[in-house]
Amino acid sequence: MTVTRPIHMTPRSYLQAEVPDEPVLFLSPETLQATARVFLDGFPGLVTYAVKANPAEAVLENLSRAGIGAFDVASPAEIALVRSVIPQAVLHYNNPVRSAAEVAMARDHGVRSFSVDDPGELAKLRDAGLGRGTEVSVRFKLPVAGAAYDFGAKFGATPELAADLLGKAAAAGFAPSLTFHPGTQCTDPNAWVAYIGEAARIARAAGAGLARLNVGGGFPSRRMLADAPPLGAIFEAVANATARAFGETAPDLVCEPGRALVAEAVSLAVRVKSIRAGGHIYLNDGIYGALAEQPLMGMTDRLAAVSVTGRPRSGPMLMRTLWGPTCDSLDRIPGEVALPADLAEGDYLLLHGMGAYSTATVTRFNGYGGLRLATVRTLA
Ligand SMILES: *Cc1c(COP(=O)(O)O)cnc(C)c1O
Repeated sequence: MTVTRPIHMTPRSYLQAEVPDEPVLFLSPETLQATARVFLDGFPGLVTYAVKANPAEAVLENLSRAGIGAFDVASPAEIALVRSVIPQAVLHYNNPVRSAAEVAMARDHGVRSFSVDDPGELAKLRDAGLGRGTEVSVRFKLPVAGAAYDFGAKFGATPELAADLLGKAAAAGFAPSLTFHPGTQCTDPNAWVAYIGEAARIARAAGAGLARLNVGGGFPSRRMLADAPPLGAIFEAVANATARAFGETAPDLVCEPGRALVAEAVSLAVRVKSIRAGGHIYLNDGIYGALAEQPLMGMTDRLAAVSVTGRPRSGPMLMRTLWGPTCDSLDRIPGEVALPADLAEGDYLLLHGMGAYSTATVTRFNGYGGLRLATVRTLA
């Protein structure tokens, strides 16, 4: 990935000057730091960043500059990456499945907080000789609706097993904590309320005072024009539910947003390669590139069409079928997308809110996926 200096004010001015033929991701450090401040000012506890949502060094650097000092990592590569960019970072290793070698690597890199959802994983932490006071967060799951996809299908102990693990972690001298993830792009504050109530019941069943309660990621970003993400309502629900469920023994709270911290800071420009009869449009990026999430989440409607001269396309809208650049017929944006009738070959589509799970999962299938990364002042 090529990184350019912040020489352009906006994506439009960049596109007009550079006329790139490959997809471009525009990062606005100002927007990223402003979003970080929404969490730092609003969340009633420690804000950490889930690195997998977007591991670009510029993202880590700007979050650190905004005041985020702790990071949720899931692999030795993410540990090494964060350590190299922010040597003093606090690391939470919250992928609950680890090989013994991965545990040893994390231990040697100063990681002192781990999640577990299974007795075998707790045993690996004990066997690695991690010192007393290392935090072990037991990850539990509930059948909760409200998220775009269900994280409980892969990870998380039942409440009964979680109480058992929590007791064992405390008995082994670890600092006992609980954690959950309500599922990504979760727009319902009640999902957190249900999990927090269950966390209090698990702690009581285990007879363990919690060191901390990590309420996960899952915070929503703005995917559709009509839906402003209810972050304030979620923060308030988390604070109230914790006070209600735990009373005097309320643990310190931690959150680990990925998507909601980084999505808004990045816009994606894709280029129209070909317009065919019947409203079929071929783009230079698709589901194997930065648009990988669209088939899972539904296509965002936060997009604008721009001509090569930087002129916004407008006027009557037509429904179009959008295809990615690879020779695979699955490489299609789901549904149909309303775009201006005067759209022409060589135009760009500018998609907003594209910072999460875009660069992170891009492939080089068919030789595509060579994204450019540019830094801009604002994404307007
Ligand atoms: C992916 C992940 C996150 C971040 O999830 P978002 O939905 O992007 O906020 C947080 N914690 C864990 C353990 C994860 O796996």
